[in-house]
Amino acid sequence: MKIAFIGLGNMGGPMALNLLKAGHTLSAFDLSAEACKKFAAEGLPIAASAAATVAGAEVVISMLPASAHVEGLYLGSDGLLEKITPGTLVIDSSTIAAATSRKVAEAAAKRGIAAIDAPVSGGTGGAVAGTLTFMVGGSEADLARARPVLEKMGANIFHAGAAGAGQTAKICNNMLLGILMIGTSEALALGVANGLDAKVLSEIMRRSSGGNWALEKYNPMPGVMETSPASKNYAGGFGTDLMLKDLGLAQENAAAVRASTPLGGMARNLYAAHSLAGHGGLDFSSVLKLFQKP
Ligand code: NAD
Repeated sequence: MKIAFIGLGNMGGPMALNLLKAGHTLSAFDLSAEACKKFAAEGLPIAASAAATVAGAEVVISMLPASAHVEGLYLGSDGLLEKITPGTLVIDSSTIAAATSRKVAEAAAKRGIAAIDAPVSGGTGGAVAGTLTFMVGGSEADLARARPVLEKMGANIFHAGAAGAGQTAKICNNMLLGILMIGTSEALALGVANGLDAKVLSEIMRRSSGGNWALEKYNPMPGVMETSPASKNYAGGFGTDLMLKDLGLAQENAAAVRASTPLGGMARNLYAAHSLAGHGGLDFSSVLKLFQKP
């Protein structure tokens, strides 16, 4: 299949490489010359612009930071939807507002283009290993078309509902993730302040009722888990500012449906304070720093 891939960041780059390895013909682009250079060196064919990637593409995939980037890419008089051939399938895997996904899907439908939202979970490790979880919003028929492509990048594919539903599921998941990373950090910092060994305490909690994904796969304390961003000076991974964006989306969403999400609101404020302290570019597990002596 001919696939256009736009957005070669921490997630998009490895996802595109998995499609290439699966035998698809790729044409990729990122606004960052550095990202293009990095993945060109791994064999990914790079186009001169986003518009150039879609020529002849049967599927267009985007993996961008936030709503504004996705709107800017697809909509407007010079947007990509004007250049994509009718009949093409668009898969946006960015985590953005459900309302923006619906707007893109509606504009695409008017041009005879199918579009689904397919945000992911599983982190950069999942993107590299091809074991991501996809949460899809769109029609059953469009998901059936997307499935063979998604299966090369992920291990779990869920149909959450109509356009935008994938984003809603993703926001619920990330609100929980943001909260549990703070709780895990708080508990570890308390133990260490009492003289406990972080590795020993992590293992005790992992195998007890406090066990969770952070303790299993993404320990926030440097040195406990060799593979986690914490052990790499919080480089790469899932940026604090991206988590802040997701928690903001969750709060907007909660306000729209008058849901009560007090811990989600508290988590957003703690990540905002962490970002203001200059840590927005670090992996989100660096929120541990809020509970440690500088
Ligand atoms: P990133 O910042 O590493 O990468 C985003 C890339 O998009 C950058 O390289 C940027 O240059 C590029 N870009 C922005 N606008 C562009 C445009 N108009 N055209 C082409 N390229 C453009 O972000 P990431 O960590 O890869 O995350 C991407 C999305 O996936 C975000 O919405 C994030 O919330 C979500 N996500 C991330 C993770 C994670 O662990 N990093 C996990 C799940 C979901």
